[in-house]
Amino acid sequence: MIRANDPNLRTWVPIPENSDFPIQNLPLGIIKRAEVHHVAMRIGDHVLDLAILNKSGLLGVDFVDEVFLSDSINLCISLGKDMMRDLRNRVSRLLDDKHDDLRQDVDLRESCLFHISKVEVCMPIKIGNYTDFYSSREHAFNVGSMFRDPANALPPNWLHIPIGYHGRASSIVLSGTPIHRPKGQSKAPNEELPSFGPSKQLDFELEMAFVTCKSNPLGTTISTDEAEEYIFGMVLFNDWSARDIQSWEYAPLGPFLGKNFASTISAWVVNLDALKPFRVEGPVQDPKPLPYLHFKDTHNYDIELEVLLESPRFNPSRISHSNYKYMYWNMVQQLTHHASNGCNIQVGDLYASGTISGPIKDSFGSMLELTWRGAEPIKMPDGTERKFVNDHDKIYMRGFAKNEQVRIGFGELVTEVLPAK
Ligand code: MN
Repeated sequence: MIRANDPNLRTWVPIPENSDFPIQNLPLGIIKRAEVHHVAMRIGDHVLDLAILNKSGLLGVDFVDEVFLSDSINLCISLGKDMMRDLRNRVSRLLDDKHDDLRQDVDLRESCLFHISKVEVCMPIKIGNYTDFYSSREHAFNVGSMFRDPANALPPNWLHIPIGYHGRASSIVLSGTPIHRPKGQSKAPNEELPSFGPSKQLDFELEMAFVTCKSNPLGTTISTDEAEEYIFGMVLFNDWSARDIQSWEYAPLGPFLGKNFASTISAWVVNLDALKPFRVEGPVQDPKPLPYLHFKDTHNYDIELEVLLESPRFNPSRISHSNYKYMYWNMVQQLTHHASNGCNIQVGDLYASGTISGPIKDSFGSMLELTWRGAEPIKMPDGTERKFVNDHDKIYMRGFAKNEQVRIGFGELVTEVLPAK
């Protein structure tokens, strides 16, 4: 077992009840203090500054300063899965209540361990490339039923290929960053000509995304056996979508301005190692995929997901409850397929799952599906209805994996929608 995953570990750092960040998690992120960015790990409601800890020598192994004196975790995770496992294990040892090296060194402790309210939490990754898959069968079926033919809802290739598209990295922002309602061209079915203006059908997509820590040279491929060496960890991901813009521009080429105005990620990148106790079998794949997509072991994860909507008139109200385990195509298959034509994966790329919908209505991962394209509005606590997302609504996403002993979470992903500019 990985040392840092030991469910019996207890830390001397105070951990609030039901925290997403027990000592068994230790995700990576970026903090800013006095205008300087450092790589940090989250523990409870505290952050551990790895740049300062590394300089102290207490880690027991010296990393080059630049690894942690950075405004992204890219260089750090590029050291590879083994080094990141070692780092997490070493930090786990310094924070566990059987070891006093850091706990008793008051000066050092006060210079590297801060309450989260004392630092600015920043974008963790310098995202090079962003791909969005379409790997939830329930989501693809729902969307196909609405936009295609209900009798042939799944596209004919869907059960053979982990479908995806290339998105835009520049507009991915950190949780907490408000977004403006996008403007664009659209045409309702009852209108003769298109018009330009603020989107009337702004939507979220409940997704998770993985971050890569290894590159393959252009022209080479990655097998399913090798794929996990490329995957550092995961974040929550809200792939904001303007359904009216999207449905007008979609054919024949697919997502463009209906998607690229904003996406939001959570701040702490959870090491895939920490999620190991929550691996589960995925859905049975029938028909059997082509041989290059066969895989060993289990690569789905039991991660509970929820979406809440808050407005100035009511508190956060849950509108969806899904689970990452519903994914038909797993991360290993997604990455293997992505590189199967020789496409080069790079450190710091982001690969999103696609909207994660479950089998029942309450588990659908977008307003498009929850309200069935606006036909069945959702009742909110103040008596109003929502077909899509209104100005000044806030969308929260949460995700955590839990068993009797440990809860490994992702923190909160929150975005307020501001009126169009
Ligand atoms: Mn999406």
